[in-house]
Amino acid sequence: MEQMEQMEKRMKAAYMDGTFQIIYRDIEKPEPEENEVLVRIEYVGICGSDVHFYENGRIGDFVVDGPFILGHEAAGIVVETGSKVTDLKKGDRVALEPGITCGKCEFCKTGRYNLCPDVKFFATPPYHGVLTEYVAHPSDMCFKLPEKVSTKEGALVEPLAVGLHAAAQGEVELGDSVVILGGGCIGLVTLLACKARGAANVIVVDMLQKRLEYAKKLGANHTVNAKEMNVEKELERLLDGKGADVVIETAGAVKTIQQTPEMAKRGGTIVLVGMAPQDVIAYDFAKIMAKELNIKSVYRYRNLYPVAIAAIADGKIDVGQIATHEFDFNNVKLAFDTVIDNAQDVVKGVIKVS
Ligand SMILES: [Zn+2]
Ligand SMILES: [Zn+2]
Repeated sequence: MEQMEQMEKRMKAAYMDGTFQIIYRDIEKPEPEENEVLVRIEYVGICGSDVHFYENGRIGDFVVDGPFILGHEAAGIVVETGSKVTDLKKGDRVALEPGITCGKCEFCKTGRYNLCPDVKFFATPPYHGVLTEYVAHPSDMCFKLPEKVSTKEGALVEPLAVGLHAAAQGEVELGDSVVILGGGCIGLVTLLACKARGAANVIVVDMLQKRLEYAKKLGANHTVNAKEMNVEKELERLLDGKGADVVIETAGAVKTIQQTPEMAKRGGTIVLVGMAPQDVIAYDFAKIMAKELNIKSVYRYRNLYPVAIAAIADGKIDVGQIATHEFDFNNVKLAFDTVIDNAQDVVKGVIKVS
């Protein structure tokens, strides 16, 4: 009996222990504070940033120091509620928004909480991620999933929120033409977001044919293979020589970032989403000014979990198709290695934790 109680207080967690290494530890199960709920995690999506930490041990100034739990895209079931929680109850299925912000700064107070300088974000050192059996999280950052939305889809709300934010920053509207550079996970969720907002002509550009096939399946009006086609000429043809209302860069490559002013319509908008490997890049500002272009950027997302969940529930966005590969919690290393070795095939890998 005592032993069972002991077991119930423990849980399994997957840690990266040096690059390309995953170990499992038996650790103490968290207890929810008064404003928190305890969530039994069902699905965790593998994000590009997790892969980056796994491969390199760091992203810019964020350095992994010692064993570290990855994962920030999670959904699961509420199993316990803190004493002051009234909005959720045991048994509710929820998606976890990963950032806990201060609530007091100028950015939090104006609703732009993604810019809060004091955010504690899952799997961003020193804060551990969610590749664990249980996570205690503030109830107001846990969003209830309606019956129609699975916890697997719930784990995909996080990347989808990035796509929705990119489309919102570009003010993509009914009838717009949009060029999306890069057909990886973020390019594809951006495609879903642009179509849901009514964009009439969405063109996805990538070098990998398989990704372009996914893009077609997810609703792209046209795709351009940058390896096989002259991108400039092809876009001129597809956009009647006018350029796109909105150009969204998700590839994070120097070349594609540099191409954006050329592709935009006069008076159009460029949205920068992809992170380039280098900080300083030569950019044609003369063209930006001659066309009076707007340049926008994206840092995570804000206030979009309810929007994403409603859009999935309503069938406006079929995010489930993004999860192309599923792995067991015992195979976290295999999951990461597969994502790295099969970049062409994997749009999004998800881990079924329980
Ligand atoms: Zn993510
Ligand atoms: Zn703040």
